[in-house]
Amino acid sequence: MTYLIIGLGQSGIAAANFLVKSGENVLVYDKDKHKASELIKGGLISKNCGIITKLCAKTLCIVHCIVLSPGVKLNKKVLHLAREFKINIIGELAFAASYCPAPIYAITGTNGKTTVCKLLGAIFSAAKYNTHLVGNIGNAFSGVVDSIAPNDKVVCEVSSFQLEYSAGFTPTAVAFTNIAPDHLDRYRNFQEYFDTKKILLERVGSGKIFLNFDDVLIRDLGKDRQNCEYYSTAELPAGYDGLFVRDNKIFRRVDSEEHFVLDLSKNKLVGKHNISNILCATCLALYGGVLPEIIAKAIKNFRAPHHRIEFVGKVNGAYYFDDSKATNINSTITAVSCFPDKRIILLLGGSDKGENYNNLIKQLPENVTQIIAFGETGRKIAKIARKAFCRNIFLCKNLYTAFLCARAHAHVDDVVLLSPACASFDEFANYRERGEYFCSLVKQNDKD
Ligand code: ADP
Repeated sequence: MTYLIIGLGQSGIAAANFLVKSGENVLVYDKDKHKASELIKGGLISKNCGIITKLCAKTLCIVHCIVLSPGVKLNKKVLHLAREFKINIIGELAFAASYCPAPIYAITGTNGKTTVCKLLGAIFSAAKYNTHLVGNIGNAFSGVVDSIAPNDKVVCEVSSFQLEYSAGFTPTAVAFTNIAPDHLDRYRNFQEYFDTKKILLERVGSGKIFLNFDDVLIRDLGKDRQNCEYYSTAELPAGYDGLFVRDNKIFRRVDSEEHFVLDLSKNKLVGKHNISNILCATCLALYGGVLPEIIAKAIKNFRAPHHRIEFVGKVNGAYYFDDSKATNINSTITAVSCFPDKRIILLLGGSDKGENYNNLIKQLPENVTQIIAFGETGRKIAKIARKAFCRNIFLCKNLYTAFLCARAHAHVDDVVLLSPACASFDEFANYRERGEYFCSLVKQNDKD
């Protein structure tokens, strides 16, 4: 068998290494021609690995299987050649999963994926399972699959990109957190993005599907499906089975019978969206056989991952929050709703993912008193905000000047919130770097 790995990011490199170690014939290709040779020179991919610099009939005719890195789009010519030479195309996630002996719990949705995965991982670990967090969370599945044992648990964060070419991926259980416009720079429209996400539900086979009842589009996905249960931050209407919250406690309804699951009063996560995330992780953990008391303990000890509505310091009496991971409008609206009693100075901007910022500005509550727009999308956001919004709008070149502007205008007890609704690539390598930079600015100024 000869494998061709296309795309040499973290997942592609992991898949190539895995195959080389397994003794397969491996070829690698990346449109950046220097990448492959540098990787091989640096010993990242060992010797039994050839480099292809062109995807054409001459090179593809010897290939049996293409392993595709997430996000790589094959052009029509390559797809045609693959069909002609009967080459199997498989995404890196499905490829790795085919070697996985343990049950996989897969989570998708527009927002909340990482929080749910980390919480579920913490719950499984608390239940003494050897747990692996893989996929879009930043840990390539192929890189760890050979260390997974049958009794382990695998928690997999799944992006829409990873669902392209995912045939053969068969998780034990899947959860869908919510859906809102995102990645419109990649998909033709919202429907195409949603349709790609929905593929995960087709992959579950005889397993179980958990759906967020509070999101109408997600709720509707349960129609005509026998193998699904819901979760809701409010009481589920009669006739629906699943988890719901009453008096700050989680209950489970099965065939009209209700059982107490756990008390939420010791939970440290802020915001209603995080109750939804807790419910989602609890559904999956119960399905995975974990006892409610262990789940409750893990929830009590769990803290939100960094850069997700994270309090990072106080400057001149104002509270600074880093929500750099909010890279779409829906997540920013969620973040803003966590501070209903505060005046909010909101830092918005970054690189464009094709969303309509009119929708963002329209949904902002009255207590957002100032908007500081910055970066590549800053001008566009400021223009829309000035038209629609009678409050203070400032335009800044970059995050540094946006921070200075916020510091100059913030009063005691205000919230300064970096929840940019945009990607970070105009100024930073990723959202983490953007968040860390913001934290460093706050820390330098935090004298309270
Ligand atoms: P993802 O991995 O899907 O990007 P994260 O858990 O990293 O999601 O959260 C990213 C941001 O999305 C958070 O900072 C918060 O602003 C928002 N968010 C988190 N959970 C939810 C949710 N359940 N519903 C809506 N927004 C959410």
